Amino acid sequence: MPSLNDIRSTFLRYFEKQGHSVQPSSPLVPRNDPTLMFANSGMVQFKNLFTGVETRDYKRATTAQKCVRAGGKHNDLDNVGYTARHHTFFEMLGNFSFGDYFKDEAIAFAWELITKDFGIDKDRLTVTVYHTDDEAYDIWKKMGVPEDRIIRIATSDNFWQMGPTGPCGPCTEIFYDHGDHIWGGPPGSPEEDGDRFIEIWNIVFMQNEQFEDGSMRALDMQSIDTGMGLERIAALLQGSHDNYDTDLFIALIEASANATSTDPFGDLNVHHRVIADHLRSTSFLIADGVMPSNDGRGYVLRRIMRRAMRHAHLLGAKDPVMYQLVPSLVGQMGAAYPELGQAQALIEETLRAEETRFKQTLERGLRLLDDELDGLAEGAELPGQAAFKLYDTYGFPLDLTQDALREKGRSVDTDGFDAAMAEQKAKARASWAGTGEAADSTVWFDVADKHGTTDFLGYDTEKAEGQL
Ligand code: ATP
Ligand code: MG
Ligand code: MG
Ligand code: MG
Repeated sequence: MPSLNDIRSTFLRYFEKQGHSVQPSSPLVPRNDPTLMFANSGMVQFKNLFTGVETRDYKRATTAQKCVRAGGKHNDLDNVGYTARHHTFFEMLGNFSFGDYFKDEAIAFAWELITKDFGIDKDRLTVTVYHTDDEAYDIWKKMGVPEDRIIRIATSDNFWQMGPTGPCGPCTEIFYDHGDHIWGGPPGSPEEDGDRFIEIWNIVFMQNEQFEDGSMRALDMQSIDTGMGLERIAALLQGSHDNYDTDLFIALIEASANATSTDPFGDLNVHHRVIADHLRSTSFLIADGVMPSNDGRGYVLRRIMRRAMRHAHLLGAKDPVMYQLVPSLVGQMGAAYPELGQAQALIEETLRAEETRFKQTLERGLRLLDDELDGLAEGAELPGQAAFKLYDTYGFPLDLTQDALREKGRSVDTDGFDAAMAEQKAKARASWAGTGEAADSTVWFDVADKHGTTDFLGYDTEKAEGQL
C-alpha cells in the first residue's frame, strides 16, 4: 500500500516526466498577496504567471502545496471532526500550464495518472463539467467516460474566478464513488455534502478575463490550474473513504492516544481526529513564522490551537498534550518539509506555552459554560453575553464555544456576542491610556528570545527534493 509520501512523489514524478518543472511549495503566508490570509491552493504562488505579468523559464510546473483553509472565503475549520474529507491543513497536488497545453492534455494527464499509474477503477469515477463547456464534455466522452457519468453543473462550483476581476474559466472535477454504504449523493444532487462521492481533483481551464463592468473576454493565453487533495487520493489508494484512516493520520492519532492514555478509536476517535488535524495546521503555521496573537493570522492560529486543546482536555489530559505530538509529525512529514524539523523546538515551545496558559482558564470556562446551559430552557441559544464572558475572561475564541455547543446540539446568539464585543471596544477606546505592549505578545517574545527569530525564518524553502 503506498504511503502518503509515496503518493506525493508519484504525482510529482509523473508530471516531471511530462515536462513539468517540480517547484517547492510556497510558504503558508503568501508573499505576493496581502489580501489573502493563507495559501489555500496551489495556484497562489503562480498568480502573476497566469496573468502574464511575470514569466519564468518554464511553462509547465507541478507542486505539492501546503494549504490552510481555516478562515476567509474557504473555511473548513467547522468541517473537521464531522466530515471524512476536510482538514484545516492539507497538501494540494497540482499541475500548471502557463499558456502551454490546455484542455485535451490536462484531462488526458489526469485520467492517465489516476486510472493507470494509480490504478483506480474507472467505473467508480464520475466527472462534472460546467454546463456550457461542450469541449470538456466531449473530451471526457473521448476518454471513454459514459455519458451518464459526465454531469453538467451550472453553479460556481464549476466556474472558477481568481477574484471579482481577472482570469477565470470553467472547471471540471473528478469524483470517486465510495459506494452506497456511505451517505451522500452525486455532485449536483441535494445529498452531495455527504462523503459517498468524494471530490478528488479539480481542473481549471483559464480561458476568460472578467472585467469590473461585468463583461468578459477570451484570454490570449489559455492556462491550466489543477488541484488534487493528497490526503483524499491517499485514502482512496489505501482502501478507505476516510482521510483520517491513512498512514499519516493513523500515526498522529496513535500518538495522541498514547499521550493521553486513551483508546485511539471508538468514541474518542473524533477528539483524536481534531487534535491530529489541528496539530498539522498549527505546526506548519508556526514553522512559516506565524505566532499566536489576538488578531489577524496569529488569532486564526490561536483559535485552532485552543480548539485542539479543548479536545485534549476532553480526553482527560492533565498536562499539555499538543507539544508532545510534534516529534511524530516531524517523523511523518519532516523529509518533505524540512522547515518542520528546523522549527521543531520553536513549535514545541510555542504549543507548550500556549497550552499551559490556556489550561489555567479552560477548565473554569467549561464549568461556567455548563452552569449557563443548566440555567437555559431546552434548545435555547447561549446568550451572547455569556459567550463574550468566555471569550474575554477565559480566553475562549467564539468558535471554540460553538464547537463545544455543537456536540450538545446548541448554538450561540452571535448577534449578542458581537454587540457585547462592540460595547467593550467602545469602552476600551474611551479609557485607553496607551499602556504599550499587549500582554499576549510576551509569550511570543519569551519564545523568540530563547530560540531566535532568524534561524527559523531563514530556512531554505526553495527546494522540492525531499518531496520526490
Ligand atoms: P469540497 O467541495 O470537498 O469542499 P473544494 O471544491 O472546496 O472541495 P477545491 O477548492 O476545488 O476543493 O480544491 C481542490 C482539491 O483540494 C479538492 O478537489 C480536494 O481534493 C482538495 N481539498 C479541498 N479542500 C480540502 C480540505 N479542507 N481538506 C482536504 N482536501 C481538500
Ligand atoms: Mg470546500
Ligand atoms: Mg467542491
Ligand atoms: Mg472543487
